Amino acid sequence: MSTIGILGGGQLGRMLALAGHPLGHSFVVLTPDAGAPAAPVAETIVAAYDDRAALEALAARCDVVTYEFENVPPVAVDVLRDLVPVRPGGLALEVASDRVREKTLFGELGIPTVPYAAVDAARDMDAAVRYAGLPAVLKTRRLGYDGKGQRVLRRSGDVDGAFTGLGAVPLILEGFVDFRRELSIVAVRGLDGATAFYPLVENRHEGGILRFTRAPAPNLEPEHQAKAEGYATALLEALDYVGVLALELFDDGVELLANEIAPRVHNSGHWTLEGAETSQFENHLRAITGAPLGSCRARGESAMINLIGDAPDPLAIQAVPGAHLHLYGKTPRPGRKLGHVTVTASDASTLDARVERL
Ligand code: AMP
Repeated sequence: MSTIGILGGGQLGRMLALAGHPLGHSFVVLTPDAGAPAAPVAETIVAAYDDRAALEALAARCDVVTYEFENVPPVAVDVLRDLVPVRPGGLALEVASDRVREKTLFGELGIPTVPYAAVDAARDMDAAVRYAGLPAVLKTRRLGYDGKGQRVLRRSGDVDGAFTGLGAVPLILEGFVDFRRELSIVAVRGLDGATAFYPLVENRHEGGILRFTRAPAPNLEPEHQAKAEGYATALLEALDYVGVLALELFDDGVELLANEIAPRVHNSGHWTLEGAETSQFENHLRAITGAPLGSCRARGESAMINLIGDAPDPLAIQAVPGAHLHLYGKTPRPGRKLGHVTVTASDASTLDARVERL
């Protein structure tokens, strides 16, 4: 039984704490927002992430510290790491918070990606477009999430002004993938180096935000699961990683191209709450506390639907067999993730009917 510190008090922190209470763990969350989703289920320290005194207070209370978002300022890990184990470590954060470092690591590990080029100044744009081709996706190297900080360049007229349009900050230009579908794999590595992998799932995004996940991904090429596990293993080992990591992939019909990693529990793993033998949240906690990992086996067929912008009628959702409502305690706002529904069934056609109803 440990006291676990979490940097960030969003829904991921909330679901980590909810998964940890049955194991006897207690939680202290550092968040700048007193009304954060995790606040009702954890002690909170309300402070900025770079507040040294607050970080020291967190370390003094906890046996281990983890994080639930990748844009933790590096100073936070610098302060914490001398005082308390931080899992996953700072290297994973450094790599995952910069799209160019992430893609460079993919390349070093032999993990295929789209063609890409770093764009540090407006004058780099022409060479980047020549290399990556058009259409292409221009993204901020740092601090992008849910499709924010990116735009698609379709023709040469879109290139001028695009650098300043994204704030004249360091960018990456990626070739546009005409993908068949998006997949992701959630993997976990324990303190002893043991690894476990959830089945590949299929994700649908709209406007850059995840809307829907189907688990396991239907009609999977038999070699894809092994390939994705191989890529995830290489990343977990290169980063000397402890905890849950998600790898997002494009299936272009020929191969799996790595898009990005998330060094944390991930929205495409929420189905595991009811759809897998051990949830991603529990497995993350098991990993960072040095416990044996739990089975990642899927219990039948599952789907996850994000509730974005407004809250639907909770009774109508709970009336659907196999459906489970998870609300995050947030005030509705357009584009905001307010909760999700997981739904399970023993076979695909029953699941499809339930999803349709939802
Ligand atoms: P990201 O923030 O990189 O996960 O991008 C958000 C979403 O935008 C992805 O899930 C894709 O649906 C889409 N997207 C991102 N990069 C590309 C790309 N290079 N080609 C095509 N679609 C992309």
